[in-house]
Amino acid sequence: MVTTLARNAKSEQDAEKLNMTEQGKPVQIDERRLEKLTQEIGHRIFDKIDRNQPRFAGVDDRLMALMMKDEDLRYRMLRFVDVYPALKNSRQIGEHLEEYLTSNELATGHQPTALSVMARTVGKSRVTTRGLIAWASKFGISRMGRQFIAGHTPEEVAEKIRKMETQGFLFSLDLLGEFVASESQAEHFAGRYLEMIERFGDLLGPKPPTLRRKRLEDAGPRVNISIKLSSLTSKFEPMDPEGTSKAVRERLRPMFRAARDRGVFLNVDMEKYDYRDLTLQIILDLLDEEEFQDCDYIGTVVQAYLKDAAESLEWFIGELRKRNQQITIRLVKGAYWDSEQIWARAKDWPVPVITVKPETDAMYERCTRMLLENSDLIRTAIGSHNVRSIAHAMALRRVMRVPARRFECQMLYGMAGSIKDALREMGMPVRIYVPCGELIPGMAYLVRRILENTSNESFLRQRFSDGVSEAKLLANPAKQTPLDLAARD
Ligand SMILES: Cc1cc2nc3c(=O)[nH]c(=O)nc-3n(C[C@H](O)[C@H](O)[C@H](O)COP(=O)(O)OP(=O)(O)OC[C@H]3O[C@@H](n4cnc5c(N)ncnc54)[C@H](O)[C@@H]3O)c2cc1C
Repeated sequence: MVTTLARNAKSEQDAEKLNMTEQGKPVQIDERRLEKLTQEIGHRIFDKIDRNQPRFAGVDDRLMALMMKDEDLRYRMLRFVDVYPALKNSRQIGEHLEEYLTSNELATGHQPTALSVMARTVGKSRVTTRGLIAWASKFGISRMGRQFIAGHTPEEVAEKIRKMETQGFLFSLDLLGEFVASESQAEHFAGRYLEMIERFGDLLGPKPPTLRRKRLEDAGPRVNISIKLSSLTSKFEPMDPEGTSKAVRERLRPMFRAARDRGVFLNVDMEKYDYRDLTLQIILDLLDEEEFQDCDYIGTVVQAYLKDAAESLEWFIGELRKRNQQITIRLVKGAYWDSEQIWARAKDWPVPVITVKPETDAMYERCTRMLLENSDLIRTAIGSHNVRSIAHAMALRRVMRVPARRFECQMLYGMAGSIKDALREMGMPVRIYVPCGELIPGMAYLVRRILENTSNESFLRQRFSDGVSEAKLLANPAKQTPLDLAARD
């Protein structure tokens, strides 16, 4: 045991030396060895998942299962969840339930479902019954919200965080609510971010009392907070990059100062495609300000579902290199896949997202490699619940001998519990992205999670609901032939 540890420590030191000389350059890799290791790690994760078999029978899971079976119901439920915040009373809730859950049967001749019968009854029922059902639907939506949203008050959330930390997880907080329509709303939102940085910084402090393991200590500041730049101004305008950057940085400065004073890490989340280049430019503009030139508590996100993900990442890494800037990059596939296509078609613009799932997965692996090739500047965070994407990243880190402290996994609160447990048991630092705040402003987040969990292409659905085989789930996405792809349809 001692010798293994000593050997690992030595190889980590060697890896650091190796990377000092090879950073930023494509590294020659034995692809067969990489694939073999990916498969080994993937099967080990699956073994652990099977041993910690997740429970999958809550009310929320049953509703999710219903939505997976019925694509049309899924979209109608989502429309209902979407308008729900605007409904003022039980009469409106009843009417919308009836409209959204029953109207399609007339058009399609579909058999009524239990849900639609209930909805029709609600629509026609007396006011008191409607009130009861409206209350029940409110209860149902809050329940679903509770699965993905950690809490409303800082105290409630801090309690959950302490529990996660005792279990050996790291966390990143996200304040729900993303649409800002006026400057006073943007001002208010910036104030709430600042309050959150100060509040959680003070409430939790820089080091958790329970962290003993070196890998978790290496993960940097205890309090991580995710921010969305578009919520800091009512005019987040890609056509006016300078004006937008100036306005956003005005609001970012106090937040970055507060974060520096309290040892808090700030992560700039990535939103729709239209905002991506401007978001990256604002980060660079901030880092160019004298006050923030040594800032080492900043991170951002790369979305691999974009057709130009690799080109954009290459440009961004080049800019970081010019500045010798350290940063953490969370690599995700992207949360706005459905919306990006709708927005692009509405404006008659080319669709920016990849539309063949294995191609997104292959782009994810390509970007993973680019991040690890630049590990002197970039700390890589693998934001995925897909065992193949995670296993490939873990294998690549080992093959490229990138130090363990330059790498972590990140997953969303309320999702993939058994995968989180498996990785933690394998000694991997796992950070949980913890949304907090009110349910109504968080509805857009909730809709994205429901879409993600119930989509045909979702790894979680294929693994935990459709029973797709391990071999298929672990297949190399870059090797999928057009024939494989046709067989999936
Ligand atoms: C910690 C954390 C933070 C996150 N932060 C952000 C963020 O800042 N910005 C953001 O946009 N997302 C963010 N996400 C959400 C993330 O994008 C989704 O959770 C992720 O895409 C799901 O991918 P997966 O690898 O877990 O699952 P998989 O099931 O392997 O992949 C699902 C994803 O594949 C893509 N996809 C689905 N269908 C197709 C298709 N037909 N063709 C091509 N591609 C398809 C979509 O991106 C979909 O979300 C975050 C996720 C995590 C875990």
